[in-house]
Amino acid sequence: MPYTYDDQNIFAKILRGEIPNTTVLETEHTLAFRDLYPQAPVHVLVIPKGAYVCYDHFARDASDAEIVDFNRTIGRIVEMESLQEGGYRTISNAGQAGVQEVPHLHVHILGGRPLGRMLAPADGT
Ligand code: AMP
Repeated sequence: MPYTYDDQNIFAKILRGEIPNTTVLETEHTLAFRDLYPQAPVHVLVIPKGAYVCYDHFARDASDAEIVDFNRTIGRIVEMESLQEGGYRTISNAGQAGVQEVPHLHVHILGGRPLGRMLAPADGT
């Protein structure tokens, strides 16, 4: 399946420095920053610097270096935010069913409070 990347999406603008962000960690291939509308005391978004729409796009087309860097960055954020002991959740929404709002791959790291069960009852939103 072809992936069409919209370079006007808000995370592309963050990567180009066109809009501000609160950076937690930046590496060669990855940027981690705080979600503007946090849903937990810790809510960090981790994105690759490359133009990937979603997780399967990244898994298929990213280089090994990008994939390693992305995953290690997620692990480092968990450590930096002291989430190991209390636990945390990683989420990556994709496409329509996943209710992905920003079409640039991102992993949410959420923690700092009990997060409830994994999925709310489906109501179509
Ligand atoms: P998703 O629904 O998985 O695509 O999540 C997109 C996330 O991006 C949401 O949690 C938003 O709160 C977050 N978001 C949107 N705009 C910004 C922004 N300018 N800076 C940081 N986070 C943002």
